[in-house]
Amino acid sequence: MKTSVIGYPRIGKDRELKFASEKFFKGELDEAGLLAAAKKIREEDLLAQKNAGISYISSNDFSFYDNVLDTAFLFNVIPQRYKALGLSELETYFAAARGYQGDKGNVKALAMKKWFNTNYHYLVPEIDDDTVITLTGTKPVDEYLEARQIGVETKPALIGPFTFLKLARFTGSKKIADVSSKLTEEYIKLVSVLASKGAELIEFDEPSLVKDLDAEDIALFKNIYSPILENKKGVKILLQTYFGDIRDIYAEVIKLDFDAIGLDFLEGRKTAELIKTNGFPKDKTLFAGLVNGKNIWRNDYRKTLAALDEIGVSDVVLGTSCSLLHVPYTLASETKLSEDYKKHFAFAEEKLTELSEIASISGTDYANSEIFKNNQKLFEGRKDSEDKDVQAKVAAITDADYVRLPAFAEREKIQKEILGLPLFPTTTIGSFPQTQDVRKNRQEFKKGLKSKEEYVEFNKKKIAECIKLQEEIGLDVLVHGEFERNDMVEYFGENLNGYVFTEKAWVQSYGTRNVKPPIIWGDVSRKGAITVEWSKFAKSCTNKPVKGMLTGPVTILNWSFPREDISIKESILQIALAIRDEVLDLEANGINIIQIDEAALREKLPLRKSDWYSEYLDFAIPAFRLVHSKVKPETQIHTHMCYSEFTDIIPAIDAMDADVITFEASRSDLLILDSLKANNFKTEVGPGVYDIHSPRVPSVEEIVTALTKMRAKIEDSKLWVNPDCGLKTRGNEETVKSLTNLVAAAKQIRG
Ligand code: GLN
Ligand code: ZN
Repeated sequence: MKTSVIGYPRIGKDRELKFASEKFFKGELDEAGLLAAAKKIREEDLLAQKNAGISYISSNDFSFYDNVLDTAFLFNVIPQRYKALGLSELETYFAAARGYQGDKGNVKALAMKKWFNTNYHYLVPEIDDDTVITLTGTKPVDEYLEARQIGVETKPALIGPFTFLKLARFTGSKKIADVSSKLTEEYIKLVSVLASKGAELIEFDEPSLVKDLDAEDIALFKNIYSPILENKKGVKILLQTYFGDIRDIYAEVIKLDFDAIGLDFLEGRKTAELIKTNGFPKDKTLFAGLVNGKNIWRNDYRKTLAALDEIGVSDVVLGTSCSLLHVPYTLASETKLSEDYKKHFAFAEEKLTELSEIASISGTDYANSEIFKNNQKLFEGRKDSEDKDVQAKVAAITDADYVRLPAFAEREKIQKEILGLPLFPTTTIGSFPQTQDVRKNRQEFKKGLKSKEEYVEFNKKKIAECIKLQEEIGLDVLVHGEFERNDMVEYFGENLNGYVFTEKAWVQSYGTRNVKPPIIWGDVSRKGAITVEWSKFAKSCTNKPVKGMLTGPVTILNWSFPREDISIKESILQIALAIRDEVLDLEANGINIIQIDEAALREKLPLRKSDWYSEYLDFAIPAFRLVHSKVKPETQIHTHMCYSEFTDIIPAIDAMDADVITFEASRSDLLILDSLKANNFKTEVGPGVYDIHSPRVPSVEEIVTALTKMRAKIEDSKLWVNPDCGLKTRGNEETVKSLTNLVAAAKQIRG
């Protein structure tokens, strides 16, 4: 059986691309230097795959920043404002990716969005009325030839035209239908160039096919691909899909003249069924995505081989479920993690071995093979992963645990009385600037260069200063500042049983930013009090209310590598119980306002609307309630979400039953407020009054204007005044100025 990889990590094992790019941005490395660094990474990546014996290896999966942006540049979909800077091609590309501020001008970057249901972000192409779609780039051709030069025959991987158009923003009067045939022509040209250079198979990535599609979408897809397939000039075309199944278009897709079709059997719950019901044409090859490109656990060969046996298609290639971009490079870089753990993980490099191993025994009498037996040993149970206590607690959860009493309206009254806050109370989202000294303190402590006492003492000094500052500014509900955390998930993971951490398991989040998600290894429980000391100390510094600050279970799960041996729901409940212990502990220690951040709740909504509730919200929202349902009526629960793009799930957000929710609103057009009103939103709200993603200081008038708009839609008694997210990436100076103006604005409208 042959094997295929959709895409490989591209940041370099030691994040070489990040460091080279950053040097280039600072002018410490020239363009030739950056190009050379990139070439080296590509070569290493290709050879790793070749040496592992992978049959179909992708080229053009590399990117300096993002593949969608690469595709835009390939077809000249470059807004004039970037071209007008008159920079080199690579610099123009980076200007679109990161914005440009310098002697040639001042432009913001293209918008960035999450790539389907992953934590990777792409740049949103802009198509305006002046856009002339033309094949002007050569990247796929260059990278195909470069690979061949080092002896690796590849399939050039392209983001397909359907997905590209679906992801693009149309900023002028043109719509998809006005440009799709021109884009198709240009793809045809590209296919013919690749064919002339010797490419035998070209991969068209079309993940947009796994979303809900209507008749218009299906017609568009056919209109795009019919001409491409009629003009393929002897090249074979692989239609590659991932992140789900293609139930809305499968029956149509198999009628088209694709030579191969790649389907995801892991996230695509209906993939196997679709093949059974509709069949799979004998003249096509099926690329079966069975090795997980998103998670880091070893593949269970029994399941995979059984799935392969059951497919019932004669020509099958074994592949990854999606690009390996979403997993780290290699376990070989993990020197601290013991074999007991490591043997259960497979990062990109180890997945290559899995592909080859499975392919080598598929179709044989594998049950007695060493490969199979060794693999199965891994699934006999894992060291330390079970905690009977935790399991019993989850099993004992009853419906009542999901309900906070008394009901919201009654609590609201009690809290207003006890807290005695003014109208339009002012607060922040939690973190204060993480200045150099704050980071240094943490790093030195982690490296053992600082004692625990010194570390704590420094943080307490910071907290005391932060409280004093907030008092001076005149904020109503204070925070401790979060100086102890570098990351809102990692920090909690480190304080929970059941988590495992890596040293170099970086995954690209966007451009030069990589994240190192912790791994949920086993049953999760709280090791001990996590934030109580800090919050208690902060409270001792002031007579004003201090808000405790936690990360919620859904966000903790969504930003970790989840387990595969128990359900996501079960894992979320375990985390919820652990965080609940912390909530009750804070409350017992006199903290009567507690914020439970769910920054990532919105982003894991399933790709298909029909799955939103049954596959996600139906357990994610109750899990949040479980965290706070046992607090006293007078304890006020806040939550925070980063994006306000929850217009279509407002009832679900209200059902979190928090007392106050703060969210980002300053960059959106406040449309969300209309929906809040229309849905009779009960929870008190703090729509961010200014954008913390920029160092700009908002004026008092500006904030008053924003608040006035909000007051038109939100009852005065429910409106809070706050920035739209944490202040950790900001500097001290602009923070003080901005918050001072925020307080002044609140006072003005109170008057
Ligand atoms: N409490 C966190 C902070 O203020 C929230 C961060 C977030 O929403 N991403 O930094
Ligand atoms: Zn936020």
